Amino acid sequence: MQTHKVVILGTGCAGLTAALYTARAGLQPLVIEGHEPGGQLSLTTLVENFPGFPEGIQGPELIDNMRAQAARFGAEFTDGQLERADLSVRPFLLGVDSRQLRAETLIIASGARARWLGLASEQALIGHGVSSCATCDGFFFRGKPIVVVGGGDSAMEEAMFLTRFGSSVAIVHRRDEFRASKIMLDRARANPKIQWVTNAVVDEIFDVAKKEVTGVRLRDPRDGRTWEMATAAVFLGIGHIPNSSPFAGQLEMDADGYLVTHGTVLTKVPGVFAAGDVQDRRYRQAVTAAGSGCMAAIEAERFLEEHGR
Ligand code: NAP
Repeated sequence: MQTHKVVILGTGCAGLTAALYTARAGLQPLVIEGHEPGGQLSLTTLVENFPGFPEGIQGPELIDNMRAQAARFGAEFTDGQLERADLSVRPFLLGVDSRQLRAETLIIASGARARWLGLASEQALIGHGVSSCATCDGFFFRGKPIVVVGGGDSAMEEAMFLTRFGSSVAIVHRRDEFRASKIMLDRARANPKIQWVTNAVVDEIFDVAKKEVTGVRLRDPRDGRTWEMATAAVFLGIGHIPNSSPFAGQLEMDADGYLVTHGTVLTKVPGVFAAGDVQDRRYRQAVTAAGSGCMAAIEAERFLEEHGR
């Protein structure tokens, strides 16, 4: 079994930046792709707030560039998902699919995945009109009415993107105040194709028997009143859940499963660092993920120096 100086989990902004820095430091990092290679940026469209791109850059292109940059300095990439980890011994033992790896240091940059409402009808209709990825599935609903659930930036972004396809896009939000940033909210409000349904939660999605989305039942959380609305698709934009489960019981987590870090990227296990959305519930930006990936790489390099490479 080979022992790697640095193993990095995840190929989003945080993981690829950590890969670039550790590769340039000559540490030949092994990067495990995870279940969503490229992370959330690979599912987005135009990124306008990553410094250095005055006209913006497409998310997948930004990720491809980061990956090529890390590979140029010797980062190695492997398919697979971390299933088991034993952090009680060093080198750490990692089970990736059926393989066993050993790692002197571990950088966890496994990100976060989309949150679902948790309705049985929602789960049954995923891929049949229910989706959490507008860029992946919007195209299928050309000329049809679409519902987007959520009141944050993701929901605004998804709704604006989906106006390219849908005959109309209704943003359904459980309150009448929005968490979204002012600029995103203003843009969505200026879009004539977007309708607003506030104080409404999606109670049920129809029609499981037909294996297609035909409508939703909405409920006003203030008085319990319900009503139905026709739609061909339901896109969820209600936030994310950190991918931290392999570390349950071994690393400190908050109530929602975000890894708790000290000094930004240090976990309580020496030699294990966490970067990006798996440990950040506050900022969750591409540039902050990249920044913490850089910090984790520098910490890993220092750790290896202090403990003899
Ligand atoms: P978020 O800011 O946490 O917003 C989640 C939204 O979903 C909230 O409006 C929340 O309602 C609602 N929600 C959560 N659970 C729900 C449930 N079970 N049923 C109904 N509604 C529910 O998440 P996000 O929009 O994914 O954004 C995350 C971070 O990424 C933010 O920092 C954001 O700025 C950033 N982001 C930036 C961009 C950009 O700048 N281009 C794009 C996307 C995301 P309440 O408000 O009532 O809690």
